[in-house]
Amino acid sequence: MTVPLRGGVDVGGTKIQAVVTRRGGKVVGQARRNTPTGGPEAVARDVALTITEAATNAGLRVRELTGVGVGAPGAVDGSTGTVQQVPNIDDWQGPYPLGPVLTERLGIPVTVGNDVSAAVEAERRYGAGRGTRSFLGVFWGTGVGGGLVLDGRLVRGRGSAGEIGHVCVKPGGRRCNCGLRGCVEAYAGRGALEQRARREARKRKTILFELQHKRGRDTLTSGIWLRALDARDAVATELLDEAVQALGVAIGSAVTLLDVELVVMGGGLGERLGASWLGRIEKAARRHTFFREAPSYRLAELGDMGGAIGASLLARRALESE
Ligand SMILES: [Zn+2]
Repeated sequence: MTVPLRGGVDVGGTKIQAVVTRRGGKVVGQARRNTPTGGPEAVARDVALTITEAATNAGLRVRELTGVGVGAPGAVDGSTGTVQQVPNIDDWQGPYPLGPVLTERLGIPVTVGNDVSAAVEAERRYGAGRGTRSFLGVFWGTGVGGGLVLDGRLVRGRGSAGEIGHVCVKPGGRRCNCGLRGCVEAYAGRGALEQRARREARKRKTILFELQHKRGRDTLTSGIWLRALDARDAVATELLDEAVQALGVAIGSAVTLLDVELVVMGGGLGERLGASWLGRIEKAARRHTFFREAPSYRLAELGDMGGAIGASLLARRALESE
């Protein structure tokens, strides 16, 4: 009897990560590439290429997988596989049938779900959330995503529960990409931080853009922010301090509302900045937490594979077989 293998793909604003997993979420093959420009058609094409490559690296053909799950940003309709209003990918506003297009192209069933829910589910089963009944997952990267586990189950609400990035931390504050004002993402998301750094760079000195230029990157990556902090760059330090305060208000308030046991921090910036910055966020959050007994704070354990591993759980029959 053959071991069932599943594909999982995490579609992000920066990269597409694909994995092949077997039981227990163990990765047996993986591949990644940069997210292309050219709208949803280009993304669908590259998702197919990346999962095919991951399958090859696992020593099999993509058609031998039981199914593929895709974690996508934006507004996802899991029942039809349609994705729309993707904020961090170019030219993806209208609905696009990502699931059906990929099912057709790959010749195996493809299920689409929310990217952050997938990452939270992976941490719940195999990562930092193992053994806890309730936790808040916060993914601090290009944007700020979130997901919620209560009573041992991922909470979806009407589909969007856990969107901590769009909790208001300052009424009438900065305009967020989502159209609202004062969202935590407008103060802490890597995208928003970069826009602000660009404005600051016209007024005062910062090494952020020199580092970007030297490394030949088109955005200020998490690694660049880290280097600038190490060099005590004033702009980087101030902007990240402000981000920490914004995250603290949002997380502390969410904890007061939900009384979760644990806060799990992931995402490119969250993981790159690591434990000491998580400690600062915890301290800021405690100032906004009602109880004396605050939850514990842990870094996500599955790293940048977490989203893809979680996505593989969406693959057909995954939930029945474990
Ligand atoms: Zn927002």
